[in-house]
Amino acid sequence: MDKKSSSPFLRNALICVLLAVIGLGVFAFIRDGSSPTLTLSPQGEVASFNTDFTLKIAAKHIGLKKLSASLSQDGKTVDFLEHAFVGKPMEHTEVFRLPREAAFKEGPAELTIVVRTHSLLSFLGRGKVLVVRKLTLDLTPPRVTLNQGVHNVNQGGSGAVSFSVSKPVQRVGVAVGEHFFPAYLQKGNDYFCFFAMPHDMAPADFKPRVIVRDLAGNEATQTLYVYAIPKDFKFDRLTVSDEFLNDKMTQYSSQYPQEQSPLDIYKRVNNDLRKQNLGELQRIGQDTANATLWSGPFLRLPNAAGRAGFGDQRDYFYNGMKIDHQTHMGVDLASLANAPVPAANDGRVVLAEFFGIYGNCVIIDHGLGLQSLYSHLDSMDVAKGAEVKKGQFIGKTGTTGLAGGDHLHFGILISGVQVSPVEWWDEHWIKDNVLRHLNKQ
Ligand SMILES: [Zn+2]
Repeated sequence: MDKKSSSPFLRNALICVLLAVIGLGVFAFIRDGSSPTLTLSPQGEVASFNTDFTLKIAAKHIGLKKLSASLSQDGKTVDFLEHAFVGKPMEHTEVFRLPREAAFKEGPAELTIVVRTHSLLSFLGRGKVLVVRKLTLDLTPPRVTLNQGVHNVNQGGSGAVSFSVSKPVQRVGVAVGEHFFPAYLQKGNDYFCFFAMPHDMAPADFKPRVIVRDLAGNEATQTLYVYAIPKDFKFDRLTVSDEFLNDKMTQYSSQYPQEQSPLDIYKRVNNDLRKQNLGELQRIGQDTANATLWSGPFLRLPNAAGRAGFGDQRDYFYNGMKIDHQTHMGVDLASLANAPVPAANDGRVVLAEFFGIYGNCVIIDHGLGLQSLYSHLDSMDVAKGAEVKKGQFIGKTGTTGLAGGDHLHFGILISGVQVSPVEWWDEHWIKDNVLRHLNKQ
C-alpha cells in the first residue's frame, strides 16, 4: 500500500531534482562561458607609436584571468602586452602604446588583443575574446612652415602667428610655459594663432613653440623667433576700509557662510574666488568663433580717465597691515557714474551675468580666441549669444563686484589669458603685429 502510493511521489521528486540539477548546470554553463566586452579607443584606423590606446574590459559573471596583445605586419608578429590578473577582477582598463620596433614600417598592420576569463571550460575555447583591429601605421611627423620671421612681443602683451601644416592634425597651437593657445584653421593648410607673453613670465623664459599632433599621434614642434620686450609694472597700494567691506561683502556672504567677519569674506573673495574666476575665463576662452569677427582698433570707454593699469602690483592694507597682494589684470577707466559702455569691437556675447570679483560682467568674443571683458557694470543691456557691433552700448558703468567706486574694468583675453588692452587700442600695433600675419593667408 505504502510502496504503491510513495513511488510516484519519489519519482516526481527525483525528476524535480534532476531538472533542477540540469537547470543549474545549463545556468552555470551559460554563466561560465559568458564573454567579457572589450572597448578599444581611439576608434580611428591611423596609428603611430605615440598613439595612446585605451582598452576597457568588462567581464560578466566570471572574473578576468589574462590579457595579451600583439602587433603583426608582413608576417612578423611582436607580442607586447602580457597581463595576468590577480584576484579575478570583473573590469580592467589598460592604456598602452604599440611596440616601437624597427621592423614595423609605415602601412597596414594588425593589432590583436586576447582576453581570457577563469572559465572552467576554457579547453573548449570558452571564456576567450579576440579582437583584431586593422591599422595603418603612420610614422611621419607633420611639418610646420612659419609664414613670417621675428615677432616683437611685450611682456603682458599679445602676439600672432600664421603657419602651414603638411597634413591633417588633431591638436595645433602655441605653447607658452604652462599655457596652450589653440590655433585655428583658416584657408587650405594655413593656421592662425593668437598667443600671449604672460605678465609674470621673465623675458628670458619666453620661448613660444608651435606644437602640432597629427591624427596618428605624431608630434612636431617649431620654435618661434621672438624678441621679448620687458615691461615695468607699477606698484600700487590699496587701503581696504571697514566702510568698503561692509558695503561690498554682502554680495558674497552667502557664498562663504562659514566666514564670520567681512574681512574674512574679503580674503576668500580676493583669493579663492579670484582664482576660480580665472579658471572660468580659461573655459570661456574656448567658446570662440573660428573666424575674425572684428576690424580696426578696439574702442576705449569715451572721455574716461585711466585709474589703474594692466599688471599693476597691488598690495592691500587693512588698518595699516598688509593683508594681501594681487596683480591687476585689466585697465580701470572712470567716466561719469553710470556712463554707457560701448562694445570695443564687433563680436558675440559669451557671458553676461554676475561673475565673481568682476560683478556684473560682459565678455565679447571676437573670434580665434580673442575676447574683451567689461566688468563692475551697474546694468547689462545684452544677453549671452547676442551679436554686437563696435560702439553698440552693452551696459552702464557701476560699482558691482570688488569695485570701490564707479568705473569700468576693461580687459582683453587671449584664449582665457588676460593681456594688456593698450595694444588693442593702437591701430599701428594691430597693423604691424596682427594684420601682417592674418593677411598672409
Ligand atoms: Zn580693475
